[in-house]
Amino acid sequence: MTLPHQPTTVTYPAGAISGTAVVVHLASQGDGTTAVLLDSTPCHPIDAAWPDQGPDHAVIRKNGASLRVSDCVVAATDGTEMFTGRQIPVKKGTEGWTFAVAHLVDDDGGLAEGDQVQVDVDETYRAEISAGHTACHVASLGLNQAMADRWKKEVRTDGRGVPDFDGLAIDVSTILQNGSVDTYRMGKSLRRKGFITDGVAEALPELEDAINEALGSWVESGAEVRIERDGDTLTDLRFWVCELPGNTVRIPCGGTHLRSLKELSSVNVALSLEDAAGTPVLRMKTTATPA
Ligand SMILES: [Zn+2]
Repeated sequence: MTLPHQPTTVTYPAGAISGTAVVVHLASQGDGTTAVLLDSTPCHPIDAAWPDQGPDHAVIRKNGASLRVSDCVVAATDGTEMFTGRQIPVKKGTEGWTFAVAHLVDDDGGLAEGDQVQVDVDETYRAEISAGHTACHVASLGLNQAMADRWKKEVRTDGRGVPDFDGLAIDVSTILQNGSVDTYRMGKSLRRKGFITDGVAEALPELEDAINEALGSWVESGAEVRIERDGDTLTDLRFWVCELPGNTVRIPCGGTHLRSLKELSSVNVALSLEDAAGTPVLRMKTTATPA
């Protein structure tokens, strides 16, 4: 069984939550579930390489039947074999490989290749996740700003021209409903890049205040948010773009987002420091309050 070389067109970057599609492939998985591949989908899959934003909650409808999507992952094939999620042995975009969105259903409800279906995404959950993801990016800019004077070497900068602590130190990013949790490793490799870790523990309340103050003014600005993309398939590069006062900020991102910071009444962070086998790990919990 092979996967047709048809990459999925994804409509969620533009904010779609429903759409019609044609079933291009069905593959039964070892665990009794079936992977449904469509020519197009509004359903956001979890990314295999950077799984910060989880799968949408969705149903596939056909002739009145409604199949619950229990998971939504990335599938890839070289034409001979199909892999899903973390089993994919190559990077997204590798030549000769086709990447598609696989909607996993427990019961395929008699679906067949060529069938036309309707896909509906849970709108409330999507909105809360999008708020969390937008807040996560804005908070990362606030964190960069608060950490800006702790560098003694030149490092790469973020979209505002500020040293990119977030990009250089990020360990795990998890998007939640109306929030996120990001952890940053402040170990030897970050110190070698020129980051001064001394005194961070004592400075946490000040850092938190500085981030929250910046977030307050950015939310106040009601900045526009959009997704720019090189194309409409799953593997086309996409960017989160935010028109902050004085800077248009661009961050590579495959997730879903709000259209404006006007949709939020506030974004706040709480910082804490943990120890991971001798390496200080900064934890930033971001909370977004919808307007
Ligand atoms: Zn993102």
